[in-house]
Amino acid sequence: MEQIDMAEEKKQLRKKIEATTEMARIMGEYFYELDKAAKSPEKKVAWCTSVGPAELLRAMGFYVHFPENHGAILGSSRMASDLIPYANAIGYSPDICSYLTSDVGAYLQGVTPLSRVYEGIESIPEPDVLVFNTNQCRAVQDWLAWFGREFDAPVLGIHTHRGISDVTNLHINSITAQLEALVNPLEEIMGSPLDPAELERVVGLSRECSELWKKVLDTAAARPSPFTFFDGTIHMGPAVVLRGTQPAIDYYKLLLAELESRISSGEGAVEGEEFRLYWEGMPIWGRLRAHSELFASNRACVLASTYCNSWIFTRFDGADPFKSMARAYTELFIVRSDEIKEQYIKEMFDTFQIDGIIYHDARTCLDNTNSRFGMPQRLEEETGIPSLTINGDLNDLRCLSDEQTNTSIEAFIEQLEEMR
Ligand code: SF4
Repeated sequence: MEQIDMAEEKKQLRKKIEATTEMARIMGEYFYELDKAAKSPEKKVAWCTSVGPAELLRAMGFYVHFPENHGAILGSSRMASDLIPYANAIGYSPDICSYLTSDVGAYLQGVTPLSRVYEGIESIPEPDVLVFNTNQCRAVQDWLAWFGREFDAPVLGIHTHRGISDVTNLHINSITAQLEALVNPLEEIMGSPLDPAELERVVGLSRECSELWKKVLDTAAARPSPFTFFDGTIHMGPAVVLRGTQPAIDYYKLLLAELESRISSGEGAVEGEEFRLYWEGMPIWGRLRAHSELFASNRACVLASTYCNSWIFTRFDGADPFKSMARAYTELFIVRSDEIKEQYIKEMFDTFQIDGIIYHDARTCLDNTNSRFGMPQRLEEETGIPSLTINGDLNDLRCLSDEQTNTSIEAFIEQLEEMR
């Protein structure tokens, strides 16, 4: 009886988003279309890093698979921790990106979580080409290189400058030239030329998708917030894998309307929202639900994050596709210096009226972990907004102590309460 009461209480604490059903439908269509393309000799499949040049690939007619999306599904299905050791056994360290090691491990074991959800899909799609951008980290290059050798497929890439303070013409010209240099080899693989009008169209669609995704995330500035970071990690799916397509735009219009209606009726994502928190770093995919429930049961709403904002590319401009892609993919948070990152987070604190910030120190992702070089201390001193750093990982649950995490989060929320 008590268990039922607790389940009911949890249900009330976190509000379900109705649009989720439509998102599941369009994501299903995407995975089936990709699977069909991989099985058809006339169609070409490109693998692309999540903040790589998806628009160019799409405009050229490639069906695009995003290994990081597969990595996140391996994490959220909690298959990752068992698969990582298979990649370790062939020389890929347990300390490097656990998306990479779980994805390689899954391939070596001949499994994919997609099979559990989508009947008939038995494997990830075989690539005709793999394209990376090192704007996020170096691991993506090694990751795609491994699969390139495995499938005997060409690997192409863009090497982005890192730790950038001001994005200058020097950076933009270099990335623009690298993007343009991809066209010839991709045309050869595709067997047909790039249609510039199609590229303009796709970049324009990506821009529209980005603007809508930003509006969705910005709804969290309302008090109470209609949307949480945990919702965002799920609903960002179309912004990652379907940007540059109409279904992603239609989906975000639907989601935005639902969130705006929640705001009008004063309905929060977390019942009785008392504390508004910011999440810095990667999600812990295998604990999304548990963490969402933990915060909600403490009347805390984690409502904004750097992570979900990383798929906002409002710099895209269909009229100037190469240069605007270069700018959008270089102005990313992850590419920038700590000074710019701190400025950005301070702006987020103001926009979303944040009471506290949680840093996730992800053991295997240095580039998306910002708590190791004094940032929490500097920001706390400057803003007075308290921080908590939790140790864990995006996919490798062996790096996580649930008990310790839960205790620290509860103590942190108590601290926020005492500060009132
Ligand atoms: S940013 Fe982190 S999680 Fe993403 S691919 Fe690079 S190392 Fe892996």
